[in-house]
Amino acid sequence: MRDLSVGLAEEGLRETFSDIETLVLECRFRDCQHGSEPGCAVQSAIVAGDLDERQLSNYFKLQREDQRLTETIAQKDERTRAFSKQVRNHLKDTSIQGTDKFRGSERASDPNGSF
Ligand SMILES: [Zn+2]
Repeated sequence: MRDLSVGLAEEGLRETFSDIETLVLECRFRDCQHGSEPGCAVQSAIVAGDLDERQLSNYFKLQREDQRLTETIAQKDERTRAFSKQVRNHLKDTSIQGTDKFRGSERASDPNGSF
């Protein structure tokens, strides 16, 4: 039941947001911040009563959160890639020196080693 109500709320948000996204396309400036710019379709919709100002601020808020989330995932992805590369290099080193275990461990403890 809870899941259903959340789904309905999201459906409503999506509808509002697609309205706003349609309005955004009608703004005079492509980089419009929808604040006090002249020719802003979003602001005129608010003035005309077609759009609730709270819906607009919700839209901006979610957009910011979305952006932050995307950046975090990208950064995490980058870290994971770097780490697996490190592991692969380490495994390669180990297999090359596997025949001489003593020299291998000595090299690993060398502070001026390849790491
Ligand atoms: Zn605008």
